Amino acid sequence: MFRAEDYVKVDSLAEAYELCQKRSSLVVGGNVWLKMTGVTKRTIVDLSGLGLDKIEETGDEFRIGCMCTLRQLEIHQGLNQYFGGIFKECTRHIVGVQMRNCATVGGSIFARFGFSDILTCMMALDTYVELYHGGIMPLAEFAKRPVRRDDRDILVRIIIKKDGRKAAYATQRNTKTDFPVIACCVSRGGNVWYVSVGARPSRAQVVKITDDGFDSLAEMAREAADSFSYGTNTRGSSGYRRQLTAVYTRRLMERLTGRSVNRG
Ligand SMILES: Cc1cc2nc3c(=O)[nH]c(=O)nc-3n(C[C@H](O)[C@H](O)[C@H](O)COP(=O)(O)OP(=O)(O)OC[C@H]3O[C@@H](n4cnc5c(N)ncnc54)[C@H](O)[C@@H]3O)c2cc1C
Repeated sequence: MFRAEDYVKVDSLAEAYELCQKRSSLVVGGNVWLKMTGVTKRTIVDLSGLGLDKIEETGDEFRIGCMCTLRQLEIHQGLNQYFGGIFKECTRHIVGVQMRNCATVGGSIFARFGFSDILTCMMALDTYVELYHGGIMPLAEFAKRPVRRDDRDILVRIIIKKDGRKAAYATQRNTKTDFPVIACCVSRGGNVWYVSVGARPSRAQVVKITDDGFDSLAEMAREAADSFSYGTNTRGSSGYRRQLTAVYTRRLMERLTGRSVNRG
């Protein structure tokens, strides 16, 4: 069971960062994941008093505070309208509404879970993380970093550029609220496609592919699927995941081009 002796609701990010430099301190998001772990800490640091629970929309970007919940992503009209409903689609299978009202975007992205629907979804967009100490960097770069105990930075917000990409999202799950067997998000800007695949079962990665030189969407989807590595666990084999990726990627591409989806 997760245990901590002290709880500090900080007044500033500077205070949070200073506290977190001690190995005995840890920042918490919604505490939904952490509470199931055996971690023991002296102090937990709560960012909930810093106004980082808002999704702001400007002319050219969305700014999502780290304390926003998954439910906020799910029901945010601007985000879902701009990106074709992918935020609703990538969150609605995660456990239940009560849980999604607690789990945060910061905890989901900073933890970089292999099964993460949120990471898979955001990787297909022009997304950046803003770290208190490390500054702003592309999410794809942040996602490649190993999750290390001595990384004591704080994820402040996520920034998603409104670059005109259209996007679609799909997962396959063995049962309704289980972790995904595979998670796919495809976006398109002009003739450039971005295919993000998570739950392989490793952490989401994204490939960029241009549609020149392909005879069909199926061929392009297969090429994208073959550029990832896959693993086997209790939910599915690597071969099955590769096959699913090719099929879902093609279906999502078809959706984005307005072509009818056949069930092949
Ligand atoms: C039973 C269960 C099923 C789930 N199923 C799915 C699923 O199907 N798909 C999916 O995508 N997700 C799933 N999740 C994960 C969930 O969506 C969240 O990602 C997870 O709960 C973490 O969010 P949190 O706010 O609870 O983070 P916490 O548990 O509070 O923190 C998680 C980690 O992130 C760190 N952290 C939190 N916020 C910050 C910050 N701002 N800066 C730096 N570090 C920070 C913490 O120190 C900790 O190491 C599941 C979780 C549970 C418990």
